[in-house]
Amino acid sequence: MGALSMLVLLLTHPLEFRTLLQYKLWHESNRDISAPSEHVHSGWDRKSMRRCWYFLDMTSRSFAGVIRELEGDLARVICLFYLVLRALDTIEDDMTLPDEKKQPLLRAFHEHAVTPGWTFAENGPDEKDRQLLVEYNVVSEEMNRLDACYRDVIIDIAQKVETGMADYAHRAATTGQLYVEKISDYDLYCHYVAGLVGEGVTRLWSASGKEAPWLGEQLELANSMGLMLQKTNIIRDYREDVEEGRFFWPREIWGRELYGKALGRPAFKDMPEMWQPGNEQQALWVQSAMVVDVLSHAVDSLDYLRLLKTQSVFNFCAIPQTMAMATLCLCFMNYEMFKRNIKIRKAEAASLIMRSTNPRDVAYLFRDYARKIHRKAVPEDPSFLQISVACGKIEQWCEHHYPSFVSVATSATSANASQVFDPSDARTTIAELTQKRDRELAIQKRASELGLNGRVNAKPLGENPDDMKEIIFYVACAFALVIMVGLGGLWLLLKFYQ
Ligand code: MG
Repeated sequence: MGALSMLVLLLTHPLEFRTLLQYKLWHESNRDISAPSEHVHSGWDRKSMRRCWYFLDMTSRSFAGVIRELEGDLARVICLFYLVLRALDTIEDDMTLPDEKKQPLLRAFHEHAVTPGWTFAENGPDEKDRQLLVEYNVVSEEMNRLDACYRDVIIDIAQKVETGMADYAHRAATTGQLYVEKISDYDLYCHYVAGLVGEGVTRLWSASGKEAPWLGEQLELANSMGLMLQKTNIIRDYREDVEEGRFFWPREIWGRELYGKALGRPAFKDMPEMWQPGNEQQALWVQSAMVVDVLSHAVDSLDYLRLLKTQSVFNFCAIPQTMAMATLCLCFMNYEMFKRNIKIRKAEAASLIMRSTNPRDVAYLFRDYARKIHRKAVPEDPSFLQISVACGKIEQWCEHHYPSFVSVATSATSANASQVFDPSDARTTIAELTQKRDRELAIQKRASELGLNGRVNAKPLGENPDDMKEIIFYVACAFALVIMVGLGGLWLLLKFYQ
């Protein structure tokens, strides 16, 4: 953002100006991958890897920053994973390539990806990322330098993605079938192009040792993460995609008679009808059903984020998810989306980046956006009930994992955080009793531990050799006392009756 536009923002939106300034001062990318101390991880000392970092900046505006911030080797590994997929996508998207050329190219891409010296210069001149394929040899060179544990995951995912892309491209080319018909087809397509990316990064987190080995098996959750992003983009990019002949919204949703019925109109026959004047209300009902479909992945996404333990990995995963929620909220019931490409404001994006640092805050961001979506929903909407249920599930998840009557307080003098209960909430009584019981149990445990320290073993009384000695000692004392009393009595008897 230039100085002039910042000045305009200061005058028109002072709060947004403050947020952006805060972001620029404290949160903008800190890692310098070109520093000599980072070379071992970033590979900046190699010409081929420097070129790969350049391509990352050229091809991804939104991911380049978070990828750079990933700890250790992960930044380089994910950078290469991204470039392999970007190259694959450039072939898939290129409508100038005939199907007979595209099919073998896509289906063998996992081999090309690691073939030294392989390049491809036949993309159409308008393909924005065609240069990446022209110089693909730098990517394959770096791919071959990766540890096998990383390379194998990337190749495996590339093979699955390319198969899905090739199947869909072949169907479109041979049957003239441009539309996605069923919701299940839509889910499968999104799985190929985004769910598998979620699976890939998750397996890479585990392979790096930065996350638990079992995380790599949470493929259902990883898939949902990918679907949430992809489906949100598909909704937001409606106008741009339709104008370029890409129809990702499933006909099973937009072609439903239900949405026209209430308005006395027939169902949509074609996707561009949604931006025709007079169709606004019906288009918004369709959009609402598309949003419900995305919201069904939100809880899985929150579950996934709770499993992460490395900060930079968490940021990498959480930031796009909160952005997706914000974008959904922006699009929902907003007819502008059918007219042009709409985006969340820069200050909102900066604020989300700053706040997406722990699962609790992310959950609350999800909840806030779910509430906003729910407030925008109207009872006339045929999806109204489903919207309410989907938002309610997010609300329920937050309340279960991070109950609203508990707040976290940090004292000014120490960095320790403590829980504070809301006295007006009925659950506080139970929580305080539970805390009290836990404290008592802890004291008892400690006391018994201290008691045991004096003994060799924690055996019942009498089984411990020390216990036995004590018992014998007391019994002997008792005997001695009885004998002494007896002898004393005898002595007195003899003395007085002699
Ligand atoms: Mg594509």
